[in-house]
Amino acid sequence: MGEGRRATLTVLSLGAGVQSTALALMACTGELPAPDAAIFADTGWEPRRVYEHLDRLEHNLAEAGIPLYRVSAGNLRDDALDPSHRYCSVPYFIRNPDGSDGMGRRQCTAEYKLTPIKAKVRELLGYPHPKRVPRGVFAEQWIGFSADEIGRVRDTLDVQYARPRHPLLELGMSRKDCVRWLRVHGWTTVAKSACKGCPFHGNAQWRDLRDNHPDEWAEVVEFDRRIRKGGARGTPLDGEAFLHRSRLPLDIAPIDRVTRREWADRQGDLLDLIADAEAGLLEDGDPDGCSPYGCRSGTAAAEAREHTVPDRRAA
Ligand code: SF4
Repeated sequence: MGEGRRATLTVLSLGAGVQSTALALMACTGELPAPDAAIFADTGWEPRRVYEHLDRLEHNLAEAGIPLYRVSAGNLRDDALDPSHRYCSVPYFIRNPDGSDGMGRRQCTAEYKLTPIKAKVRELLGYPHPKRVPRGVFAEQWIGFSADEIGRVRDTLDVQYARPRHPLLELGMSRKDCVRWLRVHGWTTVAKSACKGCPFHGNAQWRDLRDNHPDEWAEVVEFDRRIRKGGARGTPLDGEAFLHRSRLPLDIAPIDRVTRREWADRQGDLLDLIADAEAGLLEDGDPDGCSPYGCRSGTAAAEAREHTVPDRRAA
């Protein structure tokens, strides 16, 4: 890899969504060389289905001799509501005091995902913080961006001890190719990996919570009610925060409306539709999930700006 040097070790950044699950299982089946470890950053607020999926995946990885490390910087939900906890900005939809719209800075991914992953990579390399990682010692870090996400790919991870690699891009596999691969290998459903109350959810995800997981829906409605003025310690929110892009309380937000993006996702490509039909599946819902290396539904964590920014996302 870069500079002609070989990586000291290879780690898979396992978000537990479609793409990284496909990568993990391809390593288990021998279609890809086995990484030395897989790392899952747990915000403590994933849906039950994601943890169940992860348990199953962990079993397969263990059988293939690949340890799965679950790392954490705390429970994002609890911390966000705790007045004694330092405020970590979540990309809430903000109604500013003058009535204009804004968006909270996306700090949560960096704090609850990137930071614990980096710490684990250092530890696995043998140089936990604050030890200095010697030059030339680095991990090759597999990231599950697929061929249809090339615009999200960056060629550095901003630290010299980790270098990104994108095996799905090298294989030319799109997200839908990954879904088909998973189906063929008996993984018929992969829950979207994201915090239960992530503001980046599309209406389809909110509806799924409301209609199929009423306990989780009640939890996020309550969370939405409590973040109106922030929650954690720090500068009081200048305006009001909401989880839904309509900037209405979640329990009355128009989540039955199908967004332009959801329509676009449902149209797809004719060849994809044929291939999907052949594989016995049709896509349903939006593909959003939270990747530490470039949120699939918002700005990349590293690109998020200070305070609120004008909201350019489709309402
Ligand atoms: S899923 Fe949403 S709330 Fe959770 S870390 Fe990612 S961007 Fe933040």
